[in-house]
Amino acid sequence: MKECPKCGNDLNVKLIGSIEVDECISCKGIWLEKGELREAKDLIDPNLNWLDFEIWKHEDKFSSKQGAIKCPTCNIPTVSIEYGHTGVNVDYCKNCHGVWLDRDELPNIIDALEHEINEKTFSEYVDETIKEAKEVITGPESFMSEWKDLSSIFKLMQYRLYVEKPKLVETLADINTLNPFK
Ligand SMILES: [Zn+2]
Ligand SMILES: [Zn+2]
Repeated sequence: MKECPKCGNDLNVKLIGSIEVDECISCKGIWLEKGELREAKDLIDPNLNWLDFEIWKHEDKFSSKQGAIKCPTCNIPTVSIEYGHTGVNVDYCKNCHGVWLDRDELPNIIDALEHEINEKTFSEYVDETIKEAKEVITGPESFMSEWKDLSSIFKLMQYRLYVEKPKLVETLADINTLNPFK
């Protein structure tokens, strides 16, 4: 059984939806294996699907410093990395790509991302979309998974466009023009 990297107590299996994570019985921190943080985030709020920070893909972009804990799987020191612009520093293992979150860090990440999504303007969505579109062509991820991200951006854009420019959406519908969001 794995031990909590923070307090040394046992880690127990805890379910976040259908995702099995390891939770410390004492300090309630959780250990997420590679990809599980992303899955958990998307499960809790599917609108956050496209706000992804592939730490392991863009390691150089993240300011990282030596973390205070050791990976419970690999037993090597983790690095402390800010997850996106959430202000939450997570402990990340460069070897297995697992992530340790202290109690409340997951809800704090979700809150920060939801805040970010509400703050973004339509033009920022377009910028994101273009960036994502480039990744579809050049990115190492499989085409289908990139495409999934991209189509959710389009859905969000449609929603955003509707909120900011409802008249425009109506007009587009009226003249029955090609609607790229359908
Ligand atoms: Zn603990
Ligand atoms: Zn590890």
